[in-house]
Amino acid sequence: MSSSINGNTANNRIPYSIASASARRTIRLIAGTVVILPLLGLITAIALALTTGVTFTEIGIFVVMYVVTTLGITVGFHRHYAHNSFHTSTPMRIALGILGSMAGQGPLAWWVATHRRHHRFSDEDGDPHSPQLAKGEGLGRIVKGLWYGHIAWMFSEKITNWNMFARDILNDRTAYAMHRFYFPFVFLGLGLPTLAGGVLIGTWQAALGGLLWGGLVRICLVDHVLWCVGSVCHMYGRKPFLKLTRDHSCNNFWVAFFAFGEGLQNNHHAFPNAAVHGFKWWEPDFSALVIRTMKACGLIWNVRLATSDKRRAAIDANKGIVEDCAQLEAVDRNVTNTLEEARMS
Ligand SMILES: [Zn+2]
Ligand SMILES: [Zn+2]
Repeated sequence: MSSSINGNTANNRIPYSIASASARRTIRLIAGTVVILPLLGLITAIALALTTGVTFTEIGIFVVMYVVTTLGITVGFHRHYAHNSFHTSTPMRIALGILGSMAGQGPLAWWVATHRRHHRFSDEDGDPHSPQLAKGEGLGRIVKGLWYGHIAWMFSEKITNWNMFARDILNDRTAYAMHRFYFPFVFLGLGLPTLAGGVLIGTWQAALGGLLWGGLVRICLVDHVLWCVGSVCHMYGRKPFLKLTRDHSCNNFWVAFFAFGEGLQNNHHAFPNAAVHGFKWWEPDFSALVIRTMKACGLIWNVRLATSDKRRAAIDANKGIVEDCAQLEAVDRNVTNTLEEARMS
């Protein structure tokens, strides 16, 4: 990747720079491939499943690959590398870095820088993927916002400044190695399920089935679920810590369920460095279960948590504030109307 595309501007106080024409072409090519190729794989897999069926081996490979690569992002890229929520050994950091890269969500320094910029500007100008910045009104604004927050933001010409947001990743030998070998790791994520299919069943059709289900279908579903964290979870769900976050981040049960806890965005924006995002027993956070298990096995340590005292204080401060996103929209509309009335009078 050239220096013009990595946002490595010398000025550490500028959050993003505008990409050159050639960098823009590269961004569009990479983003387009990530969006379209796995989707074509999903369509092919559905068509094949309807005609020749799907095997238990293919489903098994898909599930294993979905679980380990999603954890690579949630536990590895997000909670460890971006938020330093726990410490661990170099081999474990490498394992998490490889698994996260295999998800096809972008190279580590880019991912971390983009994510920290999202926290810094959450739902305000400068947020790389907020669905709340779309212009217009009503349903059109919602659709435009969701489309931008989910997919279109990846084609943006605004390149996050890595020096400002991910300097620690660039200066860390292990983390930077994970970043540099991103593309080989993505191919590893396609090669392993192909190998698994071939070895388990012993035919080339089974190998291709492994590639399709454990590679392309898995990347398609993992990425769309994780992109929902930035789109759906800044639009729909509960906001128990609204007064603390002052943004549109929401706790969305279903996204949290499939994204292993990442859909609890309001909890997370309120306590960004906490390794556990699910505060109630009914808030799904499979990543936290894995983190607790790893801690019990001595594989990770210095796990940071949002203590119950801090949470209680935040909830007390939140009393009387609307919790639901839909209600917040109504409040926003009232404020806008009131301002307009004041301007007209
Ligand atoms: Zn968020
Ligand atoms: Zn985060």
